Amino acid sequence: MGPARRRHSLAVRIGDVVVGGGAPIVVQSMTNTDTADVAATVAQVTALARAGSELVRITVDREDAARAVPHIRERLDADGVGVPLVGDFHYIGHKLLTQNPACAEALAKYRINPGNVGFREKKDRQFATMIEVALKYQRPVRIGVNWGSLDQELLAQLMDANAKRPTPVSAAEVMHEALVQSALGSAERAEELGMAGDRIILSCKVSDVQALIAVYSALAARCSYALHLGLTEAGMGSKGIVASTAGMAILLQQGIGDTIRVSLTPEPGGDRTQEVLVAQQMLQVMGLRSFFPLVTACPGCGRTTSTFFQQLAGEIQDYIRARMPEWARQYRGVETMSVAVMGCIVNGPGESKHADIGISLPGTGEEPAAPVFVDGKKTVTLRGNTIAEDFQAILEGYVRARYPARDGDDAPPPRLAAAGE
Ligand code: SF4
Repeated sequence: MGPARRRHSLAVRIGDVVVGGGAPIVVQSMTNTDTADVAATVAQVTALARAGSELVRITVDREDAARAVPHIRERLDADGVGVPLVGDFHYIGHKLLTQNPACAEALAKYRINPGNVGFREKKDRQFATMIEVALKYQRPVRIGVNWGSLDQELLAQLMDANAKRPTPVSAAEVMHEALVQSALGSAERAEELGMAGDRIILSCKVSDVQALIAVYSALAARCSYALHLGLTEAGMGSKGIVASTAGMAILLQQGIGDTIRVSLTPEPGGDRTQEVLVAQQMLQVMGLRSFFPLVTACPGCGRTTSTFFQQLAGEIQDYIRARMPEWARQYRGVETMSVAVMGCIVNGPGESKHADIGISLPGTGEEPAAPVFVDGKKTVTLRGNTIAEDFQAILEGYVRARYPARDGDDAPPPRLAAAGE
């Protein structure tokens, strides 16, 4: 059974990218460079875009950063990197946007955090200023609430009202309601100021999986704005990946979420693009989008001579990754290919038959032979020391025969042309 039909949301155009309205779910990411460092930011935006990030958010936290933004845009354009840039504003976004028109112009979308836009009477004025700039430059906004910076006045009001109820709900439920109300109330104010609903994206990020599911379920039920989905501060390594996937997959399965970001903390010196890969894999394994051929590999067990199996499985996966940019340039639809690399006769032939193309490697004690299955049928049995190379040649032939060649005007999207690089 596939995911539920997508929730109907308004379509928002950000540069050439469409979020919501039934468009494919957009993968986005965020830099961790100092935006004032133009060279470092251009390099990281380029890496993220080449990895497949379709929107890239950058921090705009001070004058130096705001002044750098148009230069970053120019350098990216000169390098042929067209990915839309989103400016992330807190506290002084109203000043930075009004005092740096070139920054306002260079950004394709502004992220506004209603919890960090000012206090008391200043809050509405400063929020209105940001919306006015967005209207002037015809830019969409994301109203991005985060429970780490939730509007404390609103939370206090809701807590007081809850305490006076005959049967108060839990503090967690009040917090969830405050997140949703902060987002919806700010969107309503933006619309009063003239912003159309199809220029508004909402998010309500939390770092707890159950809270994420509760908050986004409520948000989706109460509005038709496009939703940016993500677990904030997901953490490092496998914990961050598992937590993000656990929360987002449940919502995506219900049709909730029009654009996603996986907020991983990179290991020191780690690669920022990992969050893009994880987001792509999440969407692909759920059957929501295709980015690159998926390789199904068995984990291996006591029936495999592990070094032989792991080496061969690794070589085949590396080969697919290395060939993907070229395949994507030449052939349409190759990213949907499924490949199985299995370790022995127990599940190898069966799993290989489910894939477009599969190989069942010989387990310990089995005859050193590797049957190959194409579109569910056994075609050949490979033997000897050249099993990996022979299988690669079969893969090449399969891609050529199965996927139509692109003509001159049919360039792959950048995410596919770069996939695997
Ligand atoms: S397919 Fe064979 S080698 Fe792979 S996990 Fe299953 S039993 Fe083990």
